[in-house]
Amino acid sequence: MYMQFNMNLPGLESVIVTKMEELEGDFYLHIKLPVKKHRCPACGERTSHVHDYRIQKVQHLKLFERTSYLFYRKRRYVCTCGKRFPEKNQVVGRYQRHSKEWNQALGLRVIQGKNFKDTAGQFRTSQTTAIRRFDQLAATSLKEVDTLPPVIAIDEYKGDTTEGKYQVIIANGETGVPLDILPNRSVRTIKKYLAKKGSQVKMVVMDMSYSFKSAVQKALGNPIIIADRFHFCRYIYWALERVRRRVQKEFHDYDRKKCKRMKHIFYKRYEELSSKQHWYLDRYLGLSEDLRQAYGLKEAFRSWFEGAKKVGTKDLGEVKQGLYNYYKQVEKAGLDEFIKAAGTLKNWQAEVLNSFAFDYNTGFVEGLNNQTKVIKRNAFGFKRYDRLRLRVLLHHQFKNLDFQVG
Ligand SMILES: [Zn+2]
Repeated sequence: MYMQFNMNLPGLESVIVTKMEELEGDFYLHIKLPVKKHRCPACGERTSHVHDYRIQKVQHLKLFERTSYLFYRKRRYVCTCGKRFPEKNQVVGRYQRHSKEWNQALGLRVIQGKNFKDTAGQFRTSQTTAIRRFDQLAATSLKEVDTLPPVIAIDEYKGDTTEGKYQVIIANGETGVPLDILPNRSVRTIKKYLAKKGSQVKMVVMDMSYSFKSAVQKALGNPIIIADRFHFCRYIYWALERVRRRVQKEFHDYDRKKCKRMKHIFYKRYEELSSKQHWYLDRYLGLSEDLRQAYGLKEAFRSWFEGAKKVGTKDLGEVKQGLYNYYKQVEKAGLDEFIKAAGTLKNWQAEVLNSFAFDYNTGFVEGLNNQTKVIKRNAFGFKRYDRLRLRVLLHHQFKNLDFQVG
């Protein structure tokens, strides 16, 4: 088979394919470049005098789902001055075992793909090569943030890296795009970072962590602090969870196990329960007055929360009054679990109310946490903090690039 034509294959637009063969499921492409006048690197004269050829074998992109190799017939020219030099080419670098296109595709894939192992498999190379390629590319590809935007979100993040179990993620509070991951959650680290990059920050959305608050206030003066809704609602759901666990211990064996298995019905919106779920709910609430009270407090909180979302930006006074009423309900019920949760809300009341006054929702931080869990679970090589940081941040920068090679 002889095919002297320019194949429209990625990375091979400028070459002549002289032969293409299939061997044990792989493709072998024999290629060369057209003869062209070259300028001699020694004397500057132009020459197209061929001295000799050498075959360089490199791995190339997958073609039609098969690994392909290039047999590149690399030409050397000779000048009248005696200088011998290789032709210029866009196909492969010196001493490389892979084509330039392959390296580029692998680079994008290690940034976008889920893990190194699958990527290495797709490119028929080792994980070490994939990781090395990632390290080469990642640091130079990432656009580092110089100045943080006016609204930022801070959240703890279980990265479980070589720097420690917890990291801190800083995201744009309006778009949800992650901007940075700090190596640890110490006040000192956060303070230093914010002091350096936070001159424009006006609002900070965060979970209820005193050390975050202290770091923010020390570094930024007095920005508006907004408690993240997901985080403060969780205290109420945790309280309900604790009551359920406490009381179900007293249930008979069958009910105890079944109640545990059916626990989701306690958290689901009342109006969304099926008739079967209603039946179970009634059964367990009938078995324990504490559980009935706890469930009522959860629903009361939810009703306050839904209302606050609607009127918050217009009538914060009403939202505040609703919260005071809620505290009273909690006291009246007298359940320790809820008294504690309400205590946390009281300590963060200004920040909680701010979340309705300014209507910022940061559910995306949770999404980010989940997404990164997936990255870590699949990934060998992301144990290192610097790699995980680059991987997560780059993933967002490259997210919209659609790339389908390899
Ligand atoms: Zn010369």
